[in-house]
Amino acid sequence: RAKTTGRNRLQVYCDEIISYHSEHLYMENQLRKALERNEFSIYYQPILNLKSEEILGFEALLRWNSKDLGVVKPFDFIPVAEETGLITPIGEWVLYQACLFNKKWSDKGENHKVFVNISPRQLNHPNFLEKLKNILKETKINHDNLCLEITESAMLNDIVHHSKVFNEIIKLGVGIVMDDFGTGYSSLSLLKNFPIQMVKIDKTFIDDVETDIKDRSIVEAIVNMSHVMSLKVIAEGIETEEQMELLKECKVDFIQGFYFSKPLPSENVESTLLNNKFL
Ligand code: C2E
Ligand code: MG
Ligand code: MG
Ligand code: MG
Repeated sequence: RAKTTGRNRLQVYCDEIISYHSEHLYMENQLRKALERNEFSIYYQPILNLKSEEILGFEALLRWNSKDLGVVKPFDFIPVAEETGLITPIGEWVLYQACLFNKKWSDKGENHKVFVNISPRQLNHPNFLEKLKNILKETKINHDNLCLEITESAMLNDIVHHSKVFNEIIKLGVGIVMDDFGTGYSSLSLLKNFPIQMVKIDKTFIDDVETDIKDRSIVEAIVNMSHVMSLKVIAEGIETEEQMELLKECKVDFIQGFYFSKPLPSENVESTLLNNKFL
């Protein structure tokens, strides 16, 4: 047995690489066809004002139901879309749909924000601003209603370029949220130097916020620091009433989480808006 282990291990290793690559390639090929096959949809998760309990807006979250692969989770396909560059057309589709959705509701007198995730690759594309302007024009969304969610790490890879792009975005009247805050370098100078309006604290700090004094201190520090810089704070991934109460004490401004609503298919948003009662 000992004699063959080395070879077997190599064999298993090679098989794994081959199967990883072929699965990856398969997914990539399916992803290429997904837009034209109409396999994507967008779910909307409400974000609430913690004090007034009113809806601030909805985060647009992409869903993929592939004809051949079934339901694939964003954490599995977004990285593939990012690596291959497919995120650019896909992300553009999400942005367009999310703006249309917002315009439809604001026309019915339900004026709220829509938060759209923008991947680093999409943001770095030379046509990004032009595409954004076209979408704003075509959908006629109220510009202040749109908020782009950009992760901290995406902001870091080219600070000079990104400051320029961000300033252009702000000039259009569109807002910027720093997503997943706390998971990357959490650079304070980013908060100071970028024209953002909101910070979204990552779920990993919320999970044990009632029991782990370190998490609680981190949340308090982020809130204090953000408020000093006139930034609003959203906490994501709230699953219990206890977490919510604690975040209230920490003076978090807005919350998002399964505790009051999972992401909803767009056809279920209406009844949510009509009831407008979560807590
Ligand atoms: P994210 O932007 O941080 O979005 C929040 C994620 O947390 C969503 O996962 C949401 O469903 C989940 N979530 C919200 N509240 C709770 C909670 O109380 N408990 C738990 N366990 N989860 C909660 P989702 O929809 O699976 O998306 C995962 C990630 O995929 C997103 O993280 C975002 O980075 C990316 N993503 C989703 N849609 C898009 C898109 O249209 N474009 C891009 N570039 N990325 C997207
Ligand atoms: Mg997000
Ligand atoms: Mg996030
Ligand atoms: Mg996250």
